[in-house]
Amino acid sequence: MSIKEKSSYCLSCKSKNCMKGCPLSNDITDAIKYVKEEEYEKAYNKFLETTVLSSICGRICPHTKQCQGSCIRGIKGDAVDIGSIESFVGDYGIQNDIKITNFEEYKKIDKKVAVIGSGPCGITCAATLKRLGVSKVTLLEKKNYLGGLLVHGIPEFRLPKDIVDSVYQKIITDLDIEVKLRIELGKDITIENLMKEYDSIFLAIGANTSSKMGIPGEELDGVYGGNELLEYKNFPDFKNKNVVVSGGGNVAMDTARTIKRLGADKVYVVYRRAEEQMPAEKIEIKEAKLEGIEFVFLNNIVKIIGKDKVEKIECIKTKLIENQGERPYPVNIEGSNYTIDTDYVVMAIGSKLDNDVLTEIKRNDWGKIQIDEKYRTNLNGVYAAGDLAGVKSTVAYASNSGKEAAKSIYEDLING
Ligand SMILES: Cc1cc2nc3c(=O)[nH]c(=O)nc-3n(C[C@H](O)[C@H](O)[C@H](O)COP(=O)(O)OP(=O)(O)OC[C@H]3O[C@@H](n4cnc5c(N)ncnc54)[C@H](O)[C@@H]3O)c2cc1C
Ligand code: SF4
Repeated sequence: MSIKEKSSYCLSCKSKNCMKGCPLSNDITDAIKYVKEEEYEKAYNKFLETTVLSSICGRICPHTKQCQGSCIRGIKGDAVDIGSIESFVGDYGIQNDIKITNFEEYKKIDKKVAVIGSGPCGITCAATLKRLGVSKVTLLEKKNYLGGLLVHGIPEFRLPKDIVDSVYQKIITDLDIEVKLRIELGKDITIENLMKEYDSIFLAIGANTSSKMGIPGEELDGVYGGNELLEYKNFPDFKNKNVVVSGGGNVAMDTARTIKRLGADKVYVVYRRAEEQMPAEKIEIKEAKLEGIEFVFLNNIVKIIGKDKVEKIECIKTKLIENQGERPYPVNIEGSNYTIDTDYVVMAIGSKLDNDVLTEIKRNDWGKIQIDEKYRTNLNGVYAAGDLAGVKSTVAYASNSGKEAAKSIYEDLING
C-alpha cells in the first residue's frame, strides 16, 4: 500500500485516540491530514512539536501496544499503519533538510547543562533543552558513537544504523548541541566535577545489564547475558550449535534472531507463560518463527547442567493461574521435569542498572535511580530519566521522559 493509500485509510476522527496511546502524545491525526494533502513539510513540523525521533519511532515502536493499539480503525479491522506513515514523514524531513527550530514561546537562558548518555532519552532531553532556549547543552557519551540501544541493542535488520546516524546528525547540527564521545561517567568524569562546570546535570545512561535467573549452573561457561551479547558482539562460534534463550521480550527475540543469523542450528526460546502473554511484539514472534526459531512456551528453566561447560538445561512445565485481571502467573507442574541438550544458554529475562555505578544517588525498590515527579534525584541539580530511572522501557517512553525532564530542568533554571 502506498503512503497515500495508508493515510487515506485514517478517519481523521476527533477523539484522537491514537494520540492518547502514543507515549510522546504525537498529534498523529493532524499530521496524517497533512500527508493526505501531500503537505509533507507541514506533517514533519506537526510531528516536530512533540518528537525529534519520527524516523526511528515510526520503525521500531511496539505500535500495537502504543498508538495503533488505540486506533478506532483497529476495533473492527486493521489499525492505520501509523508507524510507516511517521517514518516516511521523518525521512522526508531529513532528506529535504527541514530545520528543527526552537520553541518560540520560551525565554532564552544563558545556562549550561550536561546530558550524560546519548540513547533516545539523552538525545531528546538535549534537543528539548536547546529548543526551549538553554544556551549551551553538552552531550557526553562513553562509546565512540551516539545512539545507545538504538545502535547496540536493536539489531540492524530492524533498525538500520544509517537511519539512526542521519537522525542524530540532523538534531545535533540544527540545534547546535556540543558532543563529547568516549567520556565515561564514573571513570573519566564524576558528578562532583561536572557540577563545577554545569548548572544542571541530566543522567540518561540506561540500564543494560542482563538480569540473572538465580538457578544452579548459571555460572557455567557458555551462559551469556542477552544484553551484553548484543551490545559488545563478543559472540562465541554459534555455527551449527544448539542455543537456548530464556525470556519473552524484545531482548529474547533480538538475541534469538541474531544467533540464528550467526549460523546456529537450533535456537529455542523458553518462556514460562503462553504465547499470548509474551511481551514481544506479535510481528517479532511471527518473523522469528518464519526464521526457524522454536518456541517452548509454558516452561521454566530450573537448572543448567554441564561439567565445565553447558551441556543441557533442565526444564519444568508450567500452568497459568488467573490473577484478578492482571497477567496470569505461571506455577511449576511438579514432576514434569525433562532436559534439552544445548551448547549455550542466553539469559534475556530483563535488564538492570549496574550496582557499581552512581553509588552516590538514591535507588528505588527496583534498584533503579529514584526520581520525583519532576525527574529530580536526591542530588540538587541532578536529574535522571529513561531506562536508568525505571521508565517503561520502550524508545518512545524513554524519549518522552527525556522531553519532560528537559522542561523541569528549564523551569528550575528559570526559577533559580
Ligand atoms: C535488544 C533490545 C531491543 C529493544 N527493542 C525495542 C523496540 O523494538 N522498540 C522499543 O520501543 N524499545 C526497544 N527496546 C527498549 C529501548 O531500546 C530502551 O527502552 C531505550 O533505548 C532506553 O533509552 P535510554 O536513553 O534510557 O537508554 P540507552 O538507550 O541504553 O542509552 C544509554 C546511553 O548511555 C551510555 N552510557 C552508559 N553508561 C555510561 C557512562 N557511565 N558514561 C557515559 N555514557 C554512558 C550508553 O553507551 C548509551 O549510549 C529494546 C531494548 C533492547 C535491549
Ligand atoms: S512515537 Fe511511536 S507510539 Fe507515538 S505515534 Fe510514533 S510510532 Fe506511534
